[in-house]
Amino acid sequence: ATFGTLSSRLTDTFKNLRTKGKLSAADVDGTVREIRRALLEADVSLDVVKDFTGKVRERALGDEVNRALNPAQQVVQIVNEELVEVLGGDQRRLQFAKNPPTVIMLAGLQGAGKTTLAGKLAKWLKGQGHTPLLVACDLQRPNAVTQLGVVAEQAGVAIFAPEPGNGVGNPVKVAKQGVAEARAKQYDFVIIDTAGRLGVDAEMMQQASDIRKATNPDEVLFVIDSLIGQDAVATAQAFQEGVDFTGVVLTKLDGDQRGGAALSIRGVTGRPILFASTGEGLDDFEQFHPDRMASRILDLGDILTLIEQAQSAFDEDEAKKVAEKIAKDEFTLDDFLGQMQQLRGAGSIKKMMGMLPGMGKMKDQLENFDEREIIRTEAIIQSMTQDERKNPKILNGSRRLRIAKGSGMTVTDVNSLVQRFEQAAKMMKTVARGGMPQIPGMGPV
Ligand code: GDP
Repeated sequence: ATFGTLSSRLTDTFKNLRTKGKLSAADVDGTVREIRRALLEADVSLDVVKDFTGKVRERALGDEVNRALNPAQQVVQIVNEELVEVLGGDQRRLQFAKNPPTVIMLAGLQGAGKTTLAGKLAKWLKGQGHTPLLVACDLQRPNAVTQLGVVAEQAGVAIFAPEPGNGVGNPVKVAKQGVAEARAKQYDFVIIDTAGRLGVDAEMMQQASDIRKATNPDEVLFVIDSLIGQDAVATAQAFQEGVDFTGVVLTKLDGDQRGGAALSIRGVTGRPILFASTGEGLDDFEQFHPDRMASRILDLGDILTLIEQAQSAFDEDEAKKVAEKIAKDEFTLDDFLGQMQQLRGAGSIKKMMGMLPGMGKMKDQLENFDEREIIRTEAIIQSMTQDERKNPKILNGSRRLRIAKGSGMTVTDVNSLVQRFEQAAKMMKTVARGGMPQIPGMGPV
């Protein structure tokens, strides 16, 4: 789960709070102390922690909490809002050049995930109708150019690289030639992969800075491994001084990271996080939304990302049809099954389920969730009549028993499926109408 430990520490803190009516100053101080401890343990930079807890404390002792119907919930809301701020406030989108190509340069330590990211970014842009060109300027690491070639092929995009055998070439020159090539052949995006080192060093920084000067990029993205913990701040500062990036990409957010890098980087560098990388595959990539990330950390669920990912796993016509059906209240069990079957292809059901509200606590169940679940669901739905699939409300006790027998499942399985279907349909309807779904146990936030 995203920021597993931090997330469970914070939700535990709030659980204790939630049983209280009015909050005393001592309650607030206790909560703030817990939050402070959780953040420090997550390797968040001390300055950021001080600033954060100071703001939360001041607001939590203020009028908005005093007047609130449910003071504890109001405190959670305040922490949520302050987390959004720390993560960058509003989402910052990629800047496009007025005159294409838009040039994006990637910088970061070796192993941060730059080359992989180049492929992810290219595939994502291509999916939006753009024509990205990857430019291989990591001429230091022996395999880097080949690796970028592999990634380009996977993404189905073009690559510009020095001729083989010419690998000791000049990366600044290659970068310049790459941009010229894009202009000549009308590629509308250029993504420049640069060399990294295991630690920050002057030569690498100079090279990155020279490439920046030579290509005048619209975005310089600092790629940082979110697992690096306390080193995050020093590394980010070194790159800020050395190349002065315009935005940040957090990688390996799928790992069991503590969250320190994500929560510190904005406060320390003043630069926004644009993207998050969440796995080794080219599709494990998302735009970074501070508000959604905050709700994931607080286990308030991340319905919007969930839906976007579901949509990208479906073909578009299908998604449109489903949306229409939901709006008209015509979403059936057959549609539900169809969706599950499509998700199977996406291979990321666990990840998607993890974004549902309250799922942080259901890790064990998630671990057990697998293909068999889909097969069971299939069996149950296929044992239903057309009428039952269209209108599950008619499923009385004897029908449920018949379906259980027909599918080799228990009545409890059938009940649980119908219940899940009803929850999903309800949730999707709320979202389709532009609302936020209710968060279990907390009421609407
Ligand atoms: P570079 O040296 O900065 O170009 O880093 P690479 O792109 O070669 O990535 C280094 C390693 O991290 C590779 O094994 C990648 O497959 C892996 N990697 C990159 N991004 C992610 C991510 O978001 N999650 C996980 N789990 N692995 C990643």
